[in-house]
Amino acid sequence: MEAQVVPLNQPAEIQRLEKTVERLERVVTIGQMLNSTLDLAQLLETIIQTAADLLGTQAASILLMDERTGELFFAASTGSSREELREIKVPLEGSIAGAIYRTGEPIIVGDVSGDARHYTGVDQSISFQTRSLLGVPLQVRSRCIGVLEALNKLDGEQFEESDVHILLAMASHAAIAIENARLVANLREANRRLSDLDRLKTNFISIASHELRTPLMIVQGFASFLREQASGEMTSDLDMVLRGASKLQAIIDQMTNLNYLEAGLSELKRENLVVQNLVEDLAREWGPLAAAKQQTLTFNVPPMPIFVHGDRSKIDLALSNVMNNAVKFTPENGHITVQVISHTGRVEIAVIDDGAGIPKEELGRVFERFYQVEDHLTRHHGGLGLGLAIAKEVVEQHGGRIWAESGGGQGSRFRITLPTVYVRLTGAPQ
Ligand code: ADP
Repeated sequence: MEAQVVPLNQPAEIQRLEKTVERLERVVTIGQMLNSTLDLAQLLETIIQTAADLLGTQAASILLMDERTGELFFAASTGSSREELREIKVPLEGSIAGAIYRTGEPIIVGDVSGDARHYTGVDQSISFQTRSLLGVPLQVRSRCIGVLEALNKLDGEQFEESDVHILLAMASHAAIAIENARLVANLREANRRLSDLDRLKTNFISIASHELRTPLMIVQGFASFLREQASGEMTSDLDMVLRGASKLQAIIDQMTNLNYLEAGLSELKRENLVVQNLVEDLAREWGPLAAAKQQTLTFNVPPMPIFVHGDRSKIDLALSNVMNNAVKFTPENGHITVQVISHTGRVEIAVIDDGAGIPKEELGRVFERFYQVEDHLTRHHGGLGLGLAIAKEVVEQHGGRIWAESGGGQGSRFRITLPTVYVRLTGAPQ
């Protein structure tokens, strides 16, 4: 393309160029501003005010597509008739804005009274007299989302080519800004709905765990009483009732624990704890269950006592939940190792199994409440999907970290780190 040489000795031409540069500079400034705000109403207002100002027109408006009705509506407009305009729909067929939207091309009309496409419905409704019009499409990635229009050039002038460039530049900034603001608004809305759902779920758990506890205690009480008196076949039947009841009890306990943790109601009753003792508790609790599945349970624990300052029942609960999974998701004859490693200022407790494993992309999600890798319909393991969420909450309350590692098919490694404290023989933490 050949460069055009402008004869600079023509004052009018120089003036025109200076004006264009000035206008383009404002477009750049406005583009930067549009990128930094996500308030849609404020964005649209700035766009139309600047468009009217830069082009020297009586009015400007933005029409956006209403996906539900397939019509354009006034999302913003200058002047005093904003409220009336908000109610007006502009059809895609039989309107200049519609033609711009459909073709994706700018349109200049010097005198709308001679243009059959002009939609007179708007002027009639708000007692406005459109004379000349320049409209450009608002496009995001070659998809048209609406139209930016400037109406009635002041001083009776006509729209020129440079006006089209200016308005197109405004429109390209505006379209992206509008789309971003819409995406953010949609995300906020989705987030609000999710929070509502989450609150509902939490309330439900709270009510359900509370309401289930009392009848379950009655069942357990009477079944134990009858079990003491029973003989013969009745004994094993009642044992079954009691086993079922204690499974239910475990589920309700998890629900209650989560509730307390979530509501921040559970203050930590901290004391100095020896990690080796916590691991011994695990062995006592889970040894028999692992043995029942012929699993090999190994403990690698250093001999020197390691101290943490924490709530014993809560840490027990966290470790127990991780251990429960290891036993549950490792098949018969599998191997589970609990490894304790002392680092400077922290201790790592790892529970390693050679069971089902966890797909890589699910490793973070298993700590979410109710998240279970297996589909509920085909699942053969029990549980509510709360155990790891509770473990995470507890570990983090103690200033620690928990995460999972797994190669997929072959086993999982759950790693927990907790801050350690130095304890003198007298017992106070340092
Ligand atoms: P659940 O009550 O289902 O065990 P958790 O929160 O304890 O709930 O665990 C969430 C999910 O993480 C489990 O349903 C399971 O899909 C996966 N998971 C946890 N631990 C293991 C493990 N050791 N091996 C394989 N999958 C595991």
